[in-house]
Order: sequence, then structure tokens, then C-alpha cells
Amino acid sequence: MANKESYTRCLSAGQLVELDACTRCGECLKYCPVQEVTSDKSISPPEKIRLFREFIAGTEGLKSRFFGAGRIDQRLLEDFAKAVYECTTCGACGQTCTVGIFTQRLWPMLRREMVRRGLGPIGSQRETPGAVSRTGNPYDRPAAERFSPWFPAGVRVAGKAKLGYYAGCTGAYEAQPMVRGDIEVLGKIGGPFTMLDAEEEVCCGFPLFITGQFELLEELVKRLVVAYVRKGVETLVCSCPCCVNMMARDWPSFFGAKLPFRIRHITQYVADALNRGKLIINRGIEERLIYHDPCYLSRGVGVTEEPRAILRRIPGAKLLEFDRHGAESRCCGAGGAARKVFHDNAIAIARLAIDEARQKGAQKLVLSCPACYSKVGEALSGYDKLSGYGEIEGHERQLELVDIMELLSGVI
Ligand code: SF4
Ligand code: SF4
Repeated sequence: MANKESYTRCLSAGQLVELDACTRCGECLKYCPVQEVTSDKSISPPEKIRLFREFIAGTEGLKSRFFGAGRIDQRLLEDFAKAVYECTTCGACGQTCTVGIFTQRLWPMLRREMVRRGLGPIGSQRETPGAVSRTGNPYDRPAAERFSPWFPAGVRVAGKAKLGYYAGCTGAYEAQPMVRGDIEVLGKIGGPFTMLDAEEEVCCGFPLFITGQFELLEELVKRLVVAYVRKGVETLVCSCPCCVNMMARDWPSFFGAKLPFRIRHITQYVADALNRGKLIINRGIEERLIYHDPCYLSRGVGVTEEPRAILRRIPGAKLLEFDRHGAESRCCGAGGAARKVFHDNAIAIARLAIDEARQKGAQKLVLSCPACYSKVGEALSGYDKLSGYGEIEGHERQLELVDIMELLSGVI
């Protein structure tokens, strides 16, 4: 595609206004986790916005009307593409933006424009559409293994039910204690719930959406929505914040209408069950817990209170907080598919969370996202050698990672 072609095709009118609104005040820089670990201003929100405004002005600005569209330097475009893919799309910049730019949806659209121009996605992100087409998941793992290695024995899945459960690819293949915990808790609550077959439960589309690769999205979303409707689902529950975010915010536009069922994060469903007395906690935990808010759950769909309400109900548990928590939480480093390419950034950001949890004296770092679970787990391996804490052996004795439903399933 010629560098002179329009740069605004993927953007809504509101996003064009947002791009124009950035005052370059720099407030967001204080909260950007990628800035924190790289100090590279070229990948900062105002710099990305400035460059993209330049691309628009060069091809569609006033001067271009009189003298024709200018050609954007290819090198500049390539640097921009790298910057926009190095972001974790955590949305902290948008949360703190002085003019209210909704960056969690602006960055994916800029990525989409890079895909249109053949400049994105980058690295192994390019393999995602092929993997999803072949196996239904971005990890290219056999569909037949989606549920079988972790699904707890003795929990019955109904053929049809008003409640549906979507495990999600990252949970099913990369964070199995988390999804096992979900099912054990749903089993204890006791009402009927249904699931799609392993071959039917394909990717929700988030890894494609977030990397700007939109081709398969409509087909995936329609396939899933129709399958859940056939199962009689009225409420669809899921524990992966990225899936929940994608379903609640973006599925309606790919489906072409309001969804015929409600989307809820598992902590919302379980907090409600506890309040109604449908789930009872039988045991306590005499430990200090610290809860990490996933970006796509807290900033993304506003779920911050329910996970805390669940943890506060566990007798003996003391709940600590990160300095930045709730909607202001700091990314764990795993978001936006950046972890697939910028591995060192992801590990360095995850270690910031581990450092703070340890400094606050937490014994368990409680997570609620499979991407956090897998990446923070990786960062914790070998952490002692690299952290500057010296010769502390056995990190698992210093700080244990646990998913919130995995934890809860042990006390009900
Ligand atoms: S979304 Fe997160 S990582 Fe990306 S620029 Fe904003 S604060 Fe930085
Ligand atoms: S806080 Fe908002 S207005 Fe200020 S530099 Fe960042 S993106 Fe621009």
C-alpha cells in the first residue's frame, strides 16, 4: 500500500477527535509500565499520537489538499509500528489522561492500520490467525486437549442451561489451575451450567483484535454466539479478563446486534452466589494476600470490588493492596500480545509487581487473569537470582502465586 494513502480508515470520528485532543502534557508517562522499564520516550503515548497526527496531516492535511498527499518516510512508519506493538495496551495512559483519551481501544485501531499497510503485526503475532484457523486457539494446540487435562472429575456439565461457562484459550492451555478452580467453584454453587464442546469453544478473538488482525473476527464471534444461543445460555461467565472485555465491548459490533445473553466475569457471579448464600466458605487461611487487578478487568470493564469482596470473606485472610490498585493498577506486563515479542519488558514489568508484593509482606499474590498467571509465574521462576535479594532459595516459599478461584476452591 502506498504511504500516501489515508491513515484514518480504521478510526472512528471520536478517535480522530481524541488524537487531536492530546496536549502532550506528559501525565500518562508516569503510569506507563513500558516507560518504567525502558525509559524509551519514542514509545510513549504522546509520541505515538504526535507521529500518527503527522501521518494524517501529511496525507490529508490542508497542505496536501493543495499540493497533493506527501509520502511518509518508510523508516518512520516502521519505527511507529514497533512502538505501537511494544505497548501492553494496559490502558493506564487512558485512565490518567488529562483529556480522557480511551487508549485501550485507540492503540488496537492504530495497530489495525499498521496491519493494513503490511507493517504489523510483528514477530510470532503473525502466526495467530493461522493457528486459530487450524486449531481454534492461538497456541496451535490440539482442540481435543482443550479441556481434558484439567477438567475436574465429578463436576457435571449440562447439555443445555441458562448459565454458560467459557474457559478461554489461555486458561485452558496455559493456566490450568485457574480454570480448574473456576469449574470446582461452579460445581460447588451447584446450579446447572453448560459448556461448548472442546472443538466448538474457539478463541474469543481477543488476540486477533488486539494485534489488529480483524479478518477472522466476525466469523469467530458469530459462531460462538450462535452456539451459546443453541445451548439456551442467558448468562455467559468467563474468568479471563481479555475474553470478558472482548465479549462485553466488541462482540456486539462483530455479531451485528446486541448480544442475546449477558456477559459476567466469574468473580461477579461468585460474589453474588456468596451474597445469596448459595456458596459457603468452610475454611480459613491465616495469610497475607495481595490482589492484582488485571488491566482488562479493572480499567477495561470496571470489575474491582467483587474480587476483593470474595477475598475479604475468607476467615483469617488479611488483604493487602498494591500502591496502585483498582482502576489505577499497574500492568503485570503480559497484555496486548506484547509479551510474545517483547519478552524482556514483560518479565521486567512482572518483577515490579513481585517486588512490591514482597516488600509489602504478602505471602500470596492473588491473580485473576490467565495471562498474568502465566507471565508473572515465569517472572517468579529464577526471580531470586535476578532480583538482588541475594541467595534466597525457593521463591515459592517467599511468595506464592494463586488464581482467585484456585484459592477459593480450596476453602469451600
Ligand atoms: S496502554 Fe499501557 S503500555 Fe501502552 S502506552 Fe498506555 S500506559 Fe503504556
Ligand atoms: S495524558 Fe493524555 S493529553 Fe497528556 S500526553 Fe498523555 S495522552 Fe496526551
